[in-house]
Amino acid sequence: MKYVDTWDLDAIIPGGTKSPELQEKLQKIDQQINEWEQLIKQWNFSENQSAEPFKRILEKQETIEKGLSQSATFVQMWHDAFMNDEYANVVMGQILDLDSKLENINTAFTKKLVAIPDQDWNTFLQDDELKKVAFALNEIRNKGKRLLSEAEEKIITELNKDGLTAWSRLYDTVVSMMTIPFTDKDGKTVELSVGQAMNRMYADPDPEVRKQLFTNWEAAWEKFAPIFTDTINHLDGFRITLQNFHNRKDYLEEPLEYNRMTKDTLDAMWTAVANNKQPFIDFLKQKAKLLDMEKLGWQDVDAPVTVGDSKASRFTYDEACDFVIEHFASFGPKLADFAKHALENRWVEAEDRPNKRPGGYCTDLPEFEESRIFMTFTGSMSDASTLAHELGHAFHSHVMRDLPTLNRNYAMNVAETASTFAETIIGNATVANAKTDVEKISLLNDKLGNAVAMFMNIHARFIFENNFYQERTKGIVSEQRLNELMVEAQKEAYCDCLAGYHPHFWCSKLHFFIDDVPFYNFPYTFGYLFSLGIYAEFLNNPTGFEEKYIALLRDTGTMKVEELAMKHLGVDLTKPQFWEAGIQLAAKDAEEFIRLSEKLV
Ligand SMILES: [Zn+2]
Repeated sequence: MKYVDTWDLDAIIPGGTKSPELQEKLQKIDQQINEWEQLIKQWNFSENQSAEPFKRILEKQETIEKGLSQSATFVQMWHDAFMNDEYANVVMGQILDLDSKLENINTAFTKKLVAIPDQDWNTFLQDDELKKVAFALNEIRNKGKRLLSEAEEKIITELNKDGLTAWSRLYDTVVSMMTIPFTDKDGKTVELSVGQAMNRMYADPDPEVRKQLFTNWEAAWEKFAPIFTDTINHLDGFRITLQNFHNRKDYLEEPLEYNRMTKDTLDAMWTAVANNKQPFIDFLKQKAKLLDMEKLGWQDVDAPVTVGDSKASRFTYDEACDFVIEHFASFGPKLADFAKHALENRWVEAEDRPNKRPGGYCTDLPEFEESRIFMTFTGSMSDASTLAHELGHAFHSHVMRDLPTLNRNYAMNVAETASTFAETIIGNATVANAKTDVEKISLLNDKLGNAVAMFMNIHARFIFENNFYQERTKGIVSEQRLNELMVEAQKEAYCDCLAGYHPHFWCSKLHFFIDDVPFYNFPYTFGYLFSLGIYAEFLNNPTGFEEKYIALLRDTGTMKVEELAMKHLGVDLTKPQFWEAGIQLAAKDAEEFIRLSEKLV
């Protein structure tokens, strides 16, 4: 193999989760946190308004956060790659303890910022170095205005470890125990991990295989649903209670603030999506015809189309890596060189084996100024696209690596910009290079799978979560009601064009069980459409565009999205026009798909 498909954990910290080196590292971080606490205690703004002691606090904070984040990433990587490593949870517990210790002191620090009168604060920020991080500092101080007393915040942080965070981890534990049975043509039954079953259920070219897996999949989630009903109710109940204590007007305020966007922008985006679904419904109908079905089932939406002589494109891992690097080069040399470096240096864990957590993600090792990617590569086109997606995330971190930590903190909606942009490059280049119509149809199908995910699947998740929060605010929501809300949301989002739905999708989608941010859905659609807008700019002015793109990415941690879009693209995000322009680009693919496949149905 040219590229190794496992990551090198020993190169980060040798010896795994039981490594003495890791324990030493955590002890050192604990010591640094104590020193940091002393610096904060000594800092008295009303007595000394010099910026120097404040800068020492920020420096120490940066060191601690990098160390803690590096350690957490390392343990998470072990946990996800070897789900039978029970010790990972023990060390993660230690890291969470340090995290909450840090958070408690941070609360005291934020309280001190809030106590400074506005006028003095603004003068303070005129310091040349502090000016560079003013956006982040103002954001911290404004959020701080919501905080309860130090003692109360401390209780919340302590209880959180066995509350919100614990519910989320319980979900992961239950999922790691689940298996999905699959019986092959010879009548032999194997137990697949959730990740393996999901990959095969959506990607297998045989409709009978997909159907059997989907039936077993839904049954497996139904079996565990009572646990997940408790989990989702308590996880989000905990969150709603916390939001009330922090004087939030409603449950959307926190995710909008976190994503640095307004409700107007969110509404404009979903309005544009809801009003422009027809091309994608037409695409799904045409796809059903191609697959010789009356209507597509839930499990068929992402299925490959195998028409004419074409076999669905399969890749070895090496081929996928070369393919991604080659097409990144058609956009810009910096992106291509970066991807090559990451792949050659084993930043990616892609091996297909049991005991791996499902899904894919990109995570950072801030002390190395590097990223790592987790996924399961099975050889499908969509795996190549996931690889490009995660490399896009890694590139985003890479272009910001020299900025202060405070300025590198971008929200999820813009985080998905770079990843989706990378996917778009791969998708467009492959369609353009396709040699036959049959190949083109298959590639357009993969690309449209994305658009359908953003405009329908994620729209359904948003509708569900929005309705669920409304009901959860009033009390516990039963399993049956959760199923109803989910099917209603799916029917609305897919304009009822499917033959069947996935009532327990609220169990099988891990995004509903993430503890750090609520509404882990609309930022995906935002990022997708935002990056399509940027891509349109690139098509108009390709020369030297990579530098402009990098400049935009570097600003993602220091601006509200409305401001970012105005500065770099000259567009108003609160108006549907910008969003519609992005949807139109995707709609062209749907029209092309229907045109090319007309003679085959
Ligand atoms: Zn992503």
